[in-house]
Amino acid sequence: MKATLTFHGAAGEVTGSCHLLEVGGRRVLLDCGLIQGGRRDEARNRDAFPFDPASIDAVVLSHAHIDHSGRLPLLVRSGFTGPIHAHSATADLCRIMLRDAAYLQEKDAQWENRKRERKGLKPVTPLYTNHDVEAAMERFEPMEYGDVREIVPDVRVHLHDAGHILGSSLVELTIGRGTKKRTLVFSGDLGRSGMPVLQDPEVIPKADRVVMEGTYGDRLHRGWEETRAELGEVLEEAVAREGNVLVPSFAVGRTQELLFLFAKHFKEWRLDRWRIYLDSPLAIDATEVYGRHVGLFDEASRPLWVRLQNGALLPNLHLNHTAEESMALNDIRSGALIIAGSGMCSGGRIMHHLKHNVWRPECHVVITGFQARGTLGRALVDGAKHVRLWGETMRVKARVHTIGGLSAHADQAGLTHWYAGFTNRPPLTLVHGEEDALDALSAHLKRMLKAPVAIATRGGSVTL
Ligand SMILES: [Zn+2]
Repeated sequence: MKATLTFHGAAGEVTGSCHLLEVGGRRVLLDCGLIQGGRRDEARNRDAFPFDPASIDAVVLSHAHIDHSGRLPLLVRSGFTGPIHAHSATADLCRIMLRDAAYLQEKDAQWENRKRERKGLKPVTPLYTNHDVEAAMERFEPMEYGDVREIVPDVRVHLHDAGHILGSSLVELTIGRGTKKRTLVFSGDLGRSGMPVLQDPEVIPKADRVVMEGTYGDRLHRGWEETRAELGEVLEEAVAREGNVLVPSFAVGRTQELLFLFAKHFKEWRLDRWRIYLDSPLAIDATEVYGRHVGLFDEASRPLWVRLQNGALLPNLHLNHTAEESMALNDIRSGALIIAGSGMCSGGRIMHHLKHNVWRPECHVVITGFQARGTLGRALVDGAKHVRLWGETMRVKARVHTIGGLSAHADQAGLTHWYAGFTNRPPLTLVHGEEDALDALSAHLKRMLKAPVAIATRGGSVTL
């Protein structure tokens, strides 16, 4: 039975993960993510899918991050009626993340329409609404790590822990039976070994083809000890300069790790000198979902998390649910450590905090994750002297720190180690990375492991 895998997204770029497996007349979609980045990139989310959504038999979702799951409501609205197979924690996280995404889409459309009305132009509709999200959620069929499930005739899925965010999965698909059986492994986003909170990514010993992400394929993260020291130094410097610290943070994953680290190193970093604000209803909800799945954490992290959730740690943590609570931070000149989304500064409450702090030399911005091209976060990382917020140009005087060691993605060494786990060295296709990162990773894997590696192109396919 011939199987073909076509790369429809996150091919030659980092977001919009979407790959189509066709086997024996059946079609399985791996991920259905939103394209994120600049305005022009995001406009592509409105394009028709390059396949008929009604013809898809099933979706397998690697994890809840919106660049992997964010077009599912659109897929369902466009005619998809099959099941969405995902880890139970992924389903729980998608419920809150997709609702939040719909809320943002509706807000965006309202804002745009106010401008269009003044110009006498026709109104636009939101990309999708909460109604579409609820319809998509009904399609979820949750599963656990280790479960094996037949999703279409002769194709079985087996999820392994990817160690990237709660519920994140390495997707192993077994096609056919007996001696003709072949396996395809899709990494989704690969996490890092030795990080707090989650388990290490599982190593799978054998596959016939592997599709692997390469976000940090050209970089090595600092070790955990160095990262811990680096964070401590930034906080110390911020205290000395009497400013605020802004942490643009991804609501799911990074925020929970940060809270965990703050609790763990509370004394060492003398965090009692700060008022810590978690200024994101989505991150607050996601933290609650993490708490429901403590059994998925690494064993060492479980007791501390339980104490954190019971309020025994971080007594100076404030959870800001309302917009009023968020706006009240605008007047604080020093001593506030604000965790707010979005992680790439492409919207959300962090924009308001940047407006009030980015031009002040005593303030600090701590970047904790990947910043896609075209985003404000990327401009800050690249050393922009000025940024524009709501049409107003502001100078960047705050100190911007990039703490790569907090990344939730494996670096070049981690990716190489994970691929090396496949002792039969199967053919490998790289996705989910900018060109430079994937070129460097490809060259490294060829040199180190003589890996048969290729880089996916959008619309390109492989057979197995
Ligand atoms: Zn991810």
